[in-house]
Formats: sequence, C-alpha cells, structure tokens
Amino acid sequence: MGHDHHHDVHAMDHHGGQSMVFVIGLVLNVVIVIIEVVFGIMSHSLALLADAWHNVGDVLSLGVAWSAIFLARVKPSARRTFGYRRSTIVASVTNAVLLLLVTGGLMWESIQRLRMPVPSDGRTMIVVAMIGGILNAVVAAMFMVLGKKDLNIRAAFFHMASDSALAFGVAIAGALILVTRWYWLDLS
Ligand SMILES: [Zn+2]
Repeated sequence: MGHDHHHDVHAMDHHGGQSMVFVIGLVLNVVIVIIEVVFGIMSHSLALLADAWHNVGDVLSLGVAWSAIFLARVKPSARRTFGYRRSTIVASVTNAVLLLLVTGGLMWESIQRLRMPVPSDGRTMIVVAMIGGILNAVVAAMFMVLGKKDLNIRAAFFHMASDSALAFGVAIAGALILVTRWYWLDLS
C-alpha cells in the first residue's frame, strides 16, 4: 500500500519504542524485586524471597535484551553489518537459556514449597503477588503491542505473560491458604 518511503522513519520509531519498553520493563521488575524483598523479610515468606530472586534474573535478562537493541543502534560500519542481527540473536538465545534456568528453578522451588510450612502471612503474599502480577501484565502488554515480528520481544512477552499468570496463581494459592486456615480455625 505504498508505505515504502515511510520505512526508515518507522524503523527508527520502532527501535526507540522497543528500547523504552525494555527500560520500563526493567524498572518495573526492579520495583517488584524491592517490594518482594521488603515484604518477604517482613512476613518471613520464603516464597516471596524466592520469587524476588527469580525477578532479579528477569532484570538481568531484560538488561541483556535491551543492550542488544542499544548495541544495534551503534552506527553500523562495513565491518559490522551483521552486528545488529548477531546481537539480537545472542540476546534471544541468552533469554531462552535464562528462561530455562528460571523455569527449572521454579519447578525446584515449587517442589520445595510443597514441603515448606504454610506461609506466615497469607494476606501479604496475596497482595504482593497481585502487585507483581499486575506489573508483569503491564510489561507483557507493552511487549505485545510492540513486538509482532521481533523474536527478542516475543520471547520477552511470553516470559512476562507467564510470570504474570504465575503471580496470579500464587495469589489464588495464598487465598486458598487463608480460606483453609479460616476453615481450620472454624473447626477448632
Ligand atoms: Zn520471570
């Protein structure tokens, strides 16, 4: 539909937007880490501290993806024609590896969690998990809007979306624990 002459301008806007979303995603994940560490320590919740550790991994992974975009914007020279491509592929692979490690870590965590005593403060767990879920959903939505074709952004989208789903899962689990505890209180 004759969009060709706009292509360069579009590409530039696109990259600026990508970079911005990674920065916002990074900042929001740092916020999640801080909230989880503070409330994890306050409520003696190992689950929250474990999830904070996971989000530290996400901050690193977003940092890798963002630096790939940043590097790609460095003025290309004849020698470095493949610089952009290579750095985004490296970022995608790094992301995939980190995601695998994180997933493995999560499986290990959940196995351990089954053997852990009931969290001391279910209400804190629910609220913090909800905050994490909402923040991750916001980041995921931004990646979804931006990255229809970019492998790097799609990987980040899937990761943030599954983190968001997981956080809401934790919130539901927390609610169940609370309800169960009330149930037990009622019985006793
Ligand atoms: Zn994650």
